[in-house]
Amino acid sequence: MSNGSKVIHSDNYRWQGVEKKEYKTDTQNFRDIHRVSLLGDEIRELNTQTRYFEIQPGGYSSLERHRHPHSVVIIRGSGTVVLGNEMVSIKSHDVVYIAPETIHQFHADREEELGFICIVDRYRDRPVIPDDATIQKEITSLEVLNKIKK
Ligand code: MN
Repeated sequence: MSNGSKVIHSDNYRWQGVEKKEYKTDTQNFRDIHRVSLLGDEIRELNTQTRYFEIQPGGYSSLERHRHPHSVVIIRGSGTVVLGNEMVSIKSHDVVYIAPETIHQFHADREEELGFICIVDRYRDRPVIPDDATIQKEITSLEVLNKIKK
C-alpha cells in the first residue's frame, strides 16, 4: 500500500501507533475526556479529520457551539448528549448529527465510559463557549439547564 492507503489496527479502544492527546489545551470546561486523532492530521488528501473521544464515568466534553457540524458515531458505552434545548440518551452504535450553531455537550453519566468517533471538516471555525446570556436565550428547558456543566 505504497500510495498511503493503510489500516490502523485497534485493540480495546487503542489504535496502533496513535498517541492519546489532551482533549483541548485552550479551555478548561471539561472533565475526564481524552482525544485520539485517527485520520486526517497528516493525510492532506482528506477533507475531514476522524477523531476518537473517550469520556470516563462522570466526565463531560466542553459545552460549546460553532459553525461546523459534527458527524458522531458512539462506539463504546453510553451516556447523554445535550443538543440545544434537548438532551438524549445515547449508547454504542447510535449516530448523532450536531448541526451548525447547536450548543452541545456529551456526558458519561451512566457509570461507564462513553466513547465516540467524531468526524469534522479539516478547515473549520473554532468552538465558542457560550456565555450565560447566550445560554439563557437558547436553552429554556430546566432539565437541560440542570444538566449542562459550564
Ligand atoms: Mn463541538
